[in-house]
Amino acid sequence: MDRRRGDPGQRPGGKGLPPSQRPSKICPVCQRPFSWRKKWADVWEQVIYCSERCRNRRGSASGG
Ligand SMILES: [Zn+2]
Repeated sequence: MDRRRGDPGQRPGGKGLPPSQRPSKICPVCQRPFSWRKKWADVWEQVIYCSERCRNRRGSASGG
């Protein structure tokens, strides 16, 4: 048997960075991490909430 020495999880080609390499933030509303998205390419530094939904929910304590 011949063992290959490859990098696990390394995919050839692809656009942009792999999910593990992409930046991520924690949404202050739902406390969930969200990853970089293409639509945030220009405003990633200004992005605070994972979605508009959370953005609108900020301040609201109760809810589901
Ligand atoms: Zn959120």
